[in-house]
Amino acid sequence: MVSKGNVDFRKTSIQHWHRHMSTSTWPGLQTIVQREELLLAPYAMHSKDSTGRQHPEPDHLYRGPFQRDRDRILHSAAYRRLADKTQVFTGQGDYHRTRLTHTLEVASIARTIGRALRLNEDLIEAMAMVHDIGHPPFGHAGEEALHECLLEDGGFSHNQYALCLVQELEIRYEHFPGLNLTREVLEGQSSRIDKTTASPTLLEAQVVDAADSITYDSHDVDDAVQLNLLTMDELLESPMVREAARRVKERSALPHDQQLRKAIVHELIDWQVSNMLEWCSHNLKQDCPPNSEAARKLPFQIGPDDELTKLKTGLEQFLHQRVYRHERLIKVRRLAQDQLREMFDQFQKHPELLPVKFQNRIQQCGLRHSIGNYLAGMTDRYFQQQYQQLT
Ligand code: MG
Repeated sequence: MVSKGNVDFRKTSIQHWHRHMSTSTWPGLQTIVQREELLLAPYAMHSKDSTGRQHPEPDHLYRGPFQRDRDRILHSAAYRRLADKTQVFTGQGDYHRTRLTHTLEVASIARTIGRALRLNEDLIEAMAMVHDIGHPPFGHAGEEALHECLLEDGGFSHNQYALCLVQELEIRYEHFPGLNLTREVLEGQSSRIDKTTASPTLLEAQVVDAADSITYDSHDVDDAVQLNLLTMDELLESPMVREAARRVKERSALPHDQQLRKAIVHELIDWQVSNMLEWCSHNLKQDCPPNSEAARKLPFQIGPDDELTKLKTGLEQFLHQRVYRHERLIKVRRLAQDQLREMFDQFQKHPELLPVKFQNRIQQCGLRHSIGNYLAGMTDRYFQQQYQQLT
């Protein structure tokens, strides 16, 4: 995987890193290697051990490879489009989470966990920022509709599409397509495509998955009540939320539902993060993996303990039945899915309506995938504009 032709990219890249990163470029400036040796645990992914990028590039004077990846993602058009993409709740007002705010919450929680476990925060942040970049408009409803349209051609997966965006569709450099991210960030993303067949991942990737789960469980509880899809009494039917409320009330009396809702959300996050840190730091101390490769093979994954995992599963089932299948959401989703299918058909009949960039991709990946690539990149708002114009 790391060699292409006669060039061993892993070796070249690591030698290059050692040459550059072990010497301070400016007097008094700490190198990435020095900084990470001080701060990171041996089982963290250290920048000096990165296997590099597909297209070799000179190293930066003072930014590490994963910091650069984070910045490349931050400055990409696909990342900015997350601001107007649905997380769960489509067209329900301005206060609920979008795909962008969800991503920022995941990055924040993942960094908290990563810092406490002395993992590589830069790598964690880059992986968190990219983890949902491939979501099409209208969240999972949009993904289902596109998957159906592309079923005969292998279907659609937002995780796969995220790789397509950062490796092909984002054009930022003269000599190659994509963002040329490090292999560690790409591997973290590709491991999400099919978790049953993926190789064991770095601890940093596991932290991002765990933080994603903490984030959506907590903010969907918050948004569901804020949007009146559930009352507080209904929400308290979930044993995990009930336990969070009990912990909150034990500390202080909160008379209003709104205050209680916010306190429960804080508690849900704090409880899960604390539990995860306690359980994982204990396990890491016992197993003590000497490096990041050994850490992949640990007999446990970064996540909460068994008791909390059961409660989380219960909460997710509750959200699935009572929130994600709520009549108000289903109505909006059905409409969005019908419109996506209609647009897909329209472009199949009239490929000349596709932007030139996607007409040019037809030869490379076929008409249907090219349509899927175009539609998946759209924000909810841009899709609606296009739908009005083209149908
Ligand atoms: Mg996510």
